Amino acid sequence: MATLLPLNPKILASKPSEIYDFVVVGAGIFGSAFATTLAKDGHQVLLVERDFAEPDRIVGELLQPGGCQALKTLGLESCLEDIDGIRVDGYAVFYKNKPVEIPYTLEPETSTKYQGRSFHHGKFVSKLREAARQTKGVTLLEATVDKLLVCPDTDQIMGISCTTKDKTNSKQYHFGKITVVADGCFSKFRKSFTTSTPETMSHFVGFLLEDCPLPFPNHGHVVLAKQGPVLLYQIGTRDTRVLIDVPGKLPSVSDGSLKKYLLEEVAEYLPEQLQACFINAIENQKPRVMPNSMLSPSPIVGSGILVAGDAFNMRHPLTGGGMTVALSDVVRLRQLLSPLSSQELCNQDILSAKVQEFHYLRSSSSTVINILACALYRLFQSENDPSLLQLQEGCFEYFKLGGICIDGPVGFLSGIDGNLFRLIYHFFRVCLYAQFLQIQAAPLLLKPWALLSSMLLILKGAQIILPLVYAEFYFLRPNFQIFSTSRPHVYFLIPLLISLFLIYIVN
Ligand SMILES: Cc1cc2nc3c(=O)[nH]c(=O)nc-3n(C[C@H](O)[C@H](O)[C@H](O)COP(=O)(O)OP(=O)(O)OC[C@H]3O[C@@H](n4cnc5c(N)ncnc54)[C@H](O)[C@@H]3O)c2cc1C
Repeated sequence: MATLLPLNPKILASKPSEIYDFVVVGAGIFGSAFATTLAKDGHQVLLVERDFAEPDRIVGELLQPGGCQALKTLGLESCLEDIDGIRVDGYAVFYKNKPVEIPYTLEPETSTKYQGRSFHHGKFVSKLREAARQTKGVTLLEATVDKLLVCPDTDQIMGISCTTKDKTNSKQYHFGKITVVADGCFSKFRKSFTTSTPETMSHFVGFLLEDCPLPFPNHGHVVLAKQGPVLLYQIGTRDTRVLIDVPGKLPSVSDGSLKKYLLEEVAEYLPEQLQACFINAIENQKPRVMPNSMLSPSPIVGSGILVAGDAFNMRHPLTGGGMTVALSDVVRLRQLLSPLSSQELCNQDILSAKVQEFHYLRSSSSTVINILACALYRLFQSENDPSLLQLQEGCFEYFKLGGICIDGPVGFLSGIDGNLFRLIYHFFRVCLYAQFLQIQAAPLLLKPWALLSSMLLILKGAQIILPLVYAEFYFLRPNFQIFSTSRPHVYFLIPLLISLFLIYIVN
């Protein structure tokens, strides 16, 4: 394959004396945190990044409380300091110009509210890289990884071939017991080891609003506009990020169609106090665009290799969960890999058992973040589907009920509650509530008809969430006896039956 380079005598002749425990491709969120923590535990790590300059991107700017906790567990919480970051206390959702506040819940141990943090992505990544630089056992190399080295006899990945960024632009080969591919959402290497391919769900178009106070300070804002959601959050003392979701084909930037679309289709949905800043940004800034992709986890085929971060698994960024998943994965991998001796790291049976255990363990929390993000996105990007519009309204009204109707969903959003059944339970409660609202609004004589037609909402809900559950668990099926059937509809039926059972018991 084009991304793999079989070892040959020339490469072997260049073999340096050092064989690292881990060679990490990409010093982004995952790679930097992984390198630092594994080195802190005594391993030798080579961290290879194509550009160590501060990144300037519109991704990864709000870290949920679950991600802040993972950072703390890794001893990296200081990376959130001195980056002009903003405390996040929760969210505010705007629907038809009316807001509902969704505060984070209380931390049981301290009885204080969970907190997230928003910031300029580049400042946070630079701090993570600095932590790696200062950790004994991490070697940083500025180079673009071109190929992964593969042993022609065993197919085991042995390390990397790369081109340095310095003046010499020299070709180098580096060897590691485990090569970790963490090269982000546009990963060049994932396709050699995983079966999933990313699906672009929509695009986010980003602008920076200057000196534009938000209606709910220290909150992420989600505005449900006609075409899809718009996100706003403060990322610095004077800076607020706005990300507009554009489904389907992106209108052209060059002929002004995108600008026209944003001014005519989006601006009017924003809270009035933000509209002038928004229009000013559209008129004066070049739009920044990123694809919003979904990539379900899939088994990693190959030995001596680990694929992680966005290269392995992505979800729609609506709920700001990507960094939380990446950092939580570092926490789990550390638990599994750090105790291994140098010899054990070379043992492929031990490694593949650990990787499988990792996939199983991560399903307890990452799955919920992944499913929530994509399910909410499908709900909020309602287009002209009347059932989806009713579900959207039902969701908003559900939040307005407060109590458990806010505390439950915000637990998933914040990355604190990883209970899949609770997520499914709340999801169908939203569908039932939407059904109730529809029946309630119908005139007396039409109520039986409203009851019948509102059944569609439950089916619509199932149609949204069950394929997402299926996609998340499909590849884990060898781990579960319950999935050891060759009839795929069983994977749909089990969660459906359990969730319906739970819903009717509780209601
Ligand atoms: C529009 C958008 C907004 C988002 N907003 C949020 C948010 O608010 N909160 C949140 O938690 N998540 C958010 N995410 C997701 C989040 O950004 C990612 O989940 C996270 O950055 C993944 O980290 P990573 O380490 O896998 O990849 P990255 O952080 O992208 O790191 C990959 C690194 O690999 C390097 N690299 C790539 N190829 C090579 C190569 N060949 N050789 C050497 N180096 C290489 C890159 O330069 C980069 O530094 C958002 C995503 C999108 C698309």
